[in-house]
Amino acid sequence: MLSPSLLKSFVEIVGPENVFTDKADLVAYSYDAAVLDAVVPGAVLRPVTTEALGAAVRVCNENRLPLTVRGAGTNLSGGTIPDAGGVVIVTNGLNRILEINEADMYARVEPGVVTAKLAAAVEAKGLFYPPDPGSQSVSTLGGNVAENAGGLRGLKYGVTRDYVMGLEFFDVDGNIVKTGSRTVKCATGYNLTALMVGSEGTLGVLKEIILKLIPLPTHRKSMIAVFDKIEAASETVAAIIAARIVPATLEFMDNFTIRAVEADSKVGLPTDAAALLLIEVDGHPAMVEEDADKVAAICEQRGALSVRVAGDAAERDKVWEARRRALSALAKTKPTLVLEDATVPRSKIPDMVRAIQEISRTYDLSIGTFGHAGDGNLHPTILTDKRDKAEWARVESAIEAIFDKALSMGGTLSGEHGIGTAKSGFMEKETSPATIVYSRRIKAALDPNNILNPGKIIGRAEGA
Ligand SMILES: Cc1cc2nc3c(=O)[nH]c(=O)nc-3n(C[C@H](O)[C@H](O)[C@H](O)COP(=O)(O)OP(=O)(O)OC[C@H]3O[C@@H](n4cnc5c(N)ncnc54)[C@H](O)[C@@H]3O)c2cc1C
Repeated sequence: MLSPSLLKSFVEIVGPENVFTDKADLVAYSYDAAVLDAVVPGAVLRPVTTEALGAAVRVCNENRLPLTVRGAGTNLSGGTIPDAGGVVIVTNGLNRILEINEADMYARVEPGVVTAKLAAAVEAKGLFYPPDPGSQSVSTLGGNVAENAGGLRGLKYGVTRDYVMGLEFFDVDGNIVKTGSRTVKCATGYNLTALMVGSEGTLGVLKEIILKLIPLPTHRKSMIAVFDKIEAASETVAAIIAARIVPATLEFMDNFTIRAVEADSKVGLPTDAAALLLIEVDGHPAMVEEDADKVAAICEQRGALSVRVAGDAAERDKVWEARRRALSALAKTKPTLVLEDATVPRSKIPDMVRAIQEISRTYDLSIGTFGHAGDGNLHPTILTDKRDKAEWARVESAIEAIFDKALSMGGTLSGEHGIGTAKSGFMEKETSPATIVYSRRIKAALDPNNILNPGKIIGRAEGA
């Protein structure tokens, strides 16, 4: 519960219609897409101007009140669970596309703009904003920047980080900090943009984002390669990369995932296949044809039973929509879904796929695996029921085993889903004790009262 005088300040800043304190309303802001315990905030604020956003941040700091910023709440690492209490500031009222500059190829947006909305707006002008997380129809660009979100096109086009040209954000005192610019080049000052990307709301609150746009590719070709052996599919991924071909998308689905997606979407996926690769090449027409032929030849050499090319845009969109629904399709199969994000160097994809199968057998768990295999980013997805305590204990051991395997192969804890609280306890395994101390020093310098999403990424120092 917040004090009446504090609530009065927030009402003055954002308006009475944008301060929520009813328990029934607050529950909706107590959880996100991670499987973690919910924590109900003391209040939710919904600023509709950036001035109000900055003023709310300032009041939180003056009153030592923890603050968690929330876009759409789709993150998978507990980043928007207000563990420390305090307020949640939701950004869906800051949803304006401020500018799409065709001549200089950038867009300026408020943080609450939905990712797919920007992508569609720039595409209507023949431009392209490539980062396309599976959640893009609801996720916000502020959330994408704060998580350094990836997507299906990461292999060729990179991730959110590669498109952030500049930012304006509020420091903990509510002052505006500017970093980067609308220019292609900018060497002014510290690279605060890089510090903010992936900072999960722990170092500042994003106010405005300048995003790079590129020309929309004129041609695309999508294909589905069907395999009767999972190893053949994973080895084909490594072979395509080794052949120096860079498809826009190179996605993997195992049989468990194929069956779940087909049951959910009925797009005609072969449910008896051991694995599928969904591949898209794009660019200049001649190059698209050449790359598509090369990819198909590699798939066949590596034992694909068939390689089907999507006949038209409608067929292509149907397949990609089905892929984007993989997570929700899997979620329908069991009460609890734990989506992991361990990522390995691309050549290690076959080893990682094998390791996940072994872990599934060792811990006697159903694990569906899909993901951005071309980036080395697999999503082993454990289907379970958290109420079954014995099984849940095996799930926790399996998660640790997945992280250990990925790290032993030179991989990382998180390809794209961030750390939040879900993985903060594992940070030291990938980095070093000094890395955590160094990061905590940055946090303490920029947020001395520890009010900005406290406890996320680097946990809490002893006594904090
Ligand atoms: C079905 C599904 C599919 C997904 N697919 C992908 C995928 O393909 N690739 C991928 O990378 N992720 C994926 N995700 C994860 C998630 O969608 C991304 O992390 C996304 O970037 C989160 O955006 P959001 O608006 O929901 O942010 P939220 O979940 O609301 O917030 C995420 C983090 O950003 C911080 N934050 C939000 N706004 C601001 C701001 N204005 N200033 C400072 N900090 C802020 C929050 O405090 C939090 O720490 C998926 C999730 C789901 C549920």
